[in-house]
Amino acid sequence: MGAALALAIADADLDVVALDARASGDTLRGDRSLAISHGGRLILERLGVWRTLAARCDAVTPITTIDVSQAGGFGVTTLAADEYGLPALGYVVSYRALTQALDAALARTRTVVRYGVDVRAVRTTPECAHVETGAGGTVRAQLAVVADGAGAVVQGVRRTRRDYAQTAVVAKVATRQGHGNVAYERFTASGPVALLPEGDHYGLIWTLPPDTAAQALTWPEATFIAELARVFGARRDDFVGAVDRRSFPLALEYAQPTAVQRCALVGNAAQALHPIAGQGFNLGLRDAYTLAQAINAAPPATLGSHAFIARYVARRSADRNLGLTFTDGLVRLFAADRAWLRWPRGIGLALLDALPPAKRIFTRAMLFGP
Ligand SMILES: Cc1cc2nc3c(=O)[nH]c(=O)nc-3n(C[C@H](O)[C@H](O)[C@H](O)COP(=O)(O)OP(=O)(O)OC[C@H]3O[C@@H](n4cnc5c(N)ncnc54)[C@H](O)[C@@H]3O)c2cc1C
Repeated sequence: MGAALALAIADADLDVVALDARASGDTLRGDRSLAISHGGRLILERLGVWRTLAARCDAVTPITTIDVSQAGGFGVTTLAADEYGLPALGYVVSYRALTQALDAALARTRTVVRYGVDVRAVRTTPECAHVETGAGGTVRAQLAVVADGAGAVVQGVRRTRRDYAQTAVVAKVATRQGHGNVAYERFTASGPVALLPEGDHYGLIWTLPPDTAAQALTWPEATFIAELARVFGARRDDFVGAVDRRSFPLALEYAQPTAVQRCALVGNAAQALHPIAGQGFNLGLRDAYTLAQAINAAPPATLGSHAFIARYVARRSADRNLGLTFTDGLVRLFAADRAWLRWPRGIGLALLDALPPAKRIFTRAMLFGP
């Protein structure tokens, strides 16, 4: 998210320094599939990154249809791009390919980027932010933006964490039939499962209790795909292989406030959501783009001031709150201990499918935020 922000302010008459713990052209935690909404694509187009990504063979796979269902209950909703006059509802990209495209675009600007620098803490005074690095150095800035995915200790910012007691198992899954650009979101008693069409396979995000997830990483491939087919039931049962299995523990985390005088947080540093509905990256990109617009529009002397920060927090509040409550609400609604909600949930899914205005509002919020 830091690279997206730096790109969006690259033409401003400012001295911008980006500090990043990772090596250039790679992510810190390896590669995985990422669903980017149509709204996210529009931002990446404005940053000049989308064309580079799309030009790479297999780097971008459109999602034209999303099939939403629940295991062990009735009710299915299908969202289709052509109902909204869009080429696609979203796109699946490799996080590594996206990172490489962002890094390459940033390298063409005059922004100073220092890779391999570990930020330990950010202290603020009314005049400036002091960014302390692992090497014992300090960088002083009129405005510091924390985009570290975790919220490095920022003086005056409290971080709340609630463990979901769920782990996401990700893998690349091959099917006998092609994916036809259809994505699946299936709610199960152990958590949601998503299949994202990517290149010639599916990117799988399978939420499981931590102990089951640990076992699933070691299951023989045949067992893994048989279990997956059982979970998907009649929606999809032609899995033939699963490779590159890895896991991510899941928690809801958010910072309060998301900015203090001289320092603003964007992306997962501000809020880390459950991956259900693929909202986290898209929300973070809107944080970064909104902050960049505010930076580009403000007189340089006011950057990071109390009034500047208050405006940023206010502008992001509705989108952030919707993202937090929507994803957390979905996780709770479909939780295992709420099996008695199976019927109302089924009716809800069926109604959403049958009521185009409701579906339109829901889809627009998923694609663009409120
Ligand atoms: C399994 C899974 C699937 C997901 N799928 C989707 C999806 O389909 N769609 C979607 O929108 N979202 C999805 N998300 C959420 C999404 O991945 C995150 O919201 C997004 O990656 C956050 O980006 P970020 O830039 O804020 O943080 P990160 O991607 O974590 O990047 C943090 C950056 O900060 C750097 N950094 C870290 N620590 C330091 C430090 N101390 N000092 C300096 N630099 C540092 C890192 O090197 C990195 O460059 C998913 C999440 C999970 C776990």
